[in-house]
Amino acid sequence: MSLREQLCEYGRRAVELGLVIGTSGNLSVRQGDLVAVTPSGVALDRLTPEICPIVDVTGHLVEGDAQPSSETPMHLAVYETTDAQAIVHTHSVFGTVVATTMTELPPVHYNALLLGGVVRVAEYATYGTPELAANVRAALEGKRAALMANHGGVSIGASLEEAFEATRLLEWLCEVYVRGLGVGRPTVLTDEQLTAVIERAANPPTFPRR
Ligand SMILES: [Zn+2]
Repeated sequence: MSLREQLCEYGRRAVELGLVIGTSGNLSVRQGDLVAVTPSGVALDRLTPEICPIVDVTGHLVEGDAQPSSETPMHLAVYETTDAQAIVHTHSVFGTVVATTMTELPPVHYNALLLGGVVRVAEYATYGTPELAANVRAALEGKRAALMANHGGVSIGASLEEAFEATRLLEWLCEVYVRGLGVGRPTVLTDEQLTAVIERAANPPTFPRR
C-alpha cells in the first residue's frame, strides 16, 4: 500500500471507530525525507490518495493540490526529534476529557507501559502553532503517546498501523480511567509493580513439548 493509500485506510478506520468527527484529526506517514499527510478541511473518511499532500521534512509541498493539515508543523517537529515513522492525532472523547481535566494520565493498567507509562498532557497552545508543536514534542519525550491540553491526543509508531494502535490504546486507557473515576478512586500502579511487568514480559513462560 502506498503512503497515501495508508492515509485513506486508517482515516476511514479512525472515523468508523469514532476517534474523530467532522474534519478533525490528522494522520501522517513518513518515508525518508518525504511525509504524506492528510489534507486540511477534508473528513478522514472522504480521503482519496490524490488529494493527500506530500511534503518534505522541511515543510515544502512536494505533491498534491490540497493544503496539508494545519497540524503539519506539529507532525514535522515530532519527526525531527523522534524515531517516529507515522503520527496519528485525534480529538477522541475520553482522551480529550483527560486532556481538559488533568496534567497527566496515571498508569492504572499495565498496558500503559506500551505507551511509555505515565502519559503527559502537553501544555495548551493554539492549534497549528510552533508553540503547540514544541509543547507536544516535549510531552512525547521517551513516550509513544501524549495528550494535548483542551485539545486531544497524539501517538507515534514505526508504521501507521503501530501509531494507530497506540491511539486506540491511549483512548482505551483514558476511558478506563475516566469510567473508573465514576465508580471510585482508580488505583495507580506503583513503579515496583510496573518494573515487575517489564521483567515478566522479558521472561515469558516456556511450555516444553511432552
Ligand atoms: Zn487537533
